[in-house]
Amino acid sequence: MPADHEYHTFIKKVVRHRLRQAGFRRITTPIFEFTDVFKRSIGDETDIVSKEMYTFEDRKGRSLTLKPESTAGVIRSYIQNGMQDLPQPVQLYYIEPHFRYDRPQKGRYRQFWQIGFEIIGESDPALDAQCIQLANLINKDLGIDHVFTLQLNTIGTPEARKEYMQVLQDYYVGKERSLCEDCKARLSKNPMRLLDCKEEDCQILAELAPKMADYLDDESKAFHAELKSFLDEMGIEYVENPRLVRGLDYYSKTVFEFWDKNDGAQNAIGGGGRYDGLVELLGGQPTPAVGYAAGMERMIANMKIEKIQVPCKDDLHVFVAQLGVEAKKKCLPLIEKMRNEGIKTMGALGTGAIRNQLRMADKFQVPWTVIIGITEVREGTAIIRNMKKGTQETVPMEKVIPVLKKKIGEKNLDRYSPGELLYS
Ligand code: AMP
Repeated sequence: MPADHEYHTFIKKVVRHRLRQAGFRRITTPIFEFTDVFKRSIGDETDIVSKEMYTFEDRKGRSLTLKPESTAGVIRSYIQNGMQDLPQPVQLYYIEPHFRYDRPQKGRYRQFWQIGFEIIGESDPALDAQCIQLANLINKDLGIDHVFTLQLNTIGTPEARKEYMQVLQDYYVGKERSLCEDCKARLSKNPMRLLDCKEEDCQILAELAPKMADYLDDESKAFHAELKSFLDEMGIEYVENPRLVRGLDYYSKTVFEFWDKNDGAQNAIGGGGRYDGLVELLGGQPTPAVGYAAGMERMIANMKIEKIQVPCKDDLHVFVAQLGVEAKKKCLPLIEKMRNEGIKTMGALGTGAIRNQLRMADKFQVPWTVIIGITEVREGTAIIRNMKKGTQETVPMEKVIPVLKKKIGEKNLDRYSPGELLYS
């Protein structure tokens, strides 16, 4: 809705600005991909793939899926468009709608927007630190950083994880009866997901489960220690959360999420991590990468709770009311000129009594109305009405614009017109 668009526009500006400063370029991947792109990267046993995808067949019976997230598509595009030949790392960002077949509820929609960014082609904890720092900066710019805590964990390399997953499965032997139905199903294929289940009984068991930290490979340990030292250096606070796993299979080493201080994971605003195996998994050369994604609706909801006002440039300056065809002939060129001069103008151009048009002007809450009736056409004048005070003055037609500009004030005029800038 228009009122939310003011927030959308503001968030997009913040994101574009911060990422441009950091050398990122924007990418848009298609709304749908071959289902396999998501299945292979996100993982068959994840909630997203097993329960939340909008999958359908096209006319040739090929399985397609509306994108539930963007990383898989970005990496598919990186490989397909030869981006590995560009100077590395390749830094990309997106602002896109996504689709998940979730139960619609507050903060959870079937179509929602994410902003996100990826650094592809280099592996260093300093890049993970930079991703986190950028995510933090965006939250700060939106005035909502204090609402969230940064939750941080490392899930090691896939090899280290194999051993740990076996240990976890062994731990849960004999405890299956206490698990929720989802966790029972996940246990054999994706036991790490049991650690971040929201069900109380599952949480109690997860609390006592063996910790990934005890099975980490040395490389992941050193990587994580270095990442934390960088975050400390930048003064970024984090909570070490050994049970944070993220719901997608492609992660390795660093994972992080921004959790709501009151609601925890339930209302996380965004999350990300390192995914060093994904490019290879989708058919490219082994290429490390790290990224982040955050939900725009949740950003907006939190900005509203925090009573953050975003600048709104949509309010009108002037309403033009008219009476009769001859008056309309005067109005149309006048309206065009006014707009070109930066006066935001709406015309009541349908037929209707002047009284109704003025009522309309009131509803649109314009400060000024220009009225051109039969007399004004004949005399080459127009009436300028101050809507708040209810006073009005008659001015010669050629004075309408200068008089209005003075009333509105030079700095309030809306002259921004990118097309004009390009060709003038
Ligand atoms: P995820 O990659 O699933 O952790 O999603 C990242 C962020 O996207 C979340 O923290 C939310 O802010 C947002 N998000 C994910 N799913 C939805 C949804 N169904 N509706 C609204 N926002 C969502």
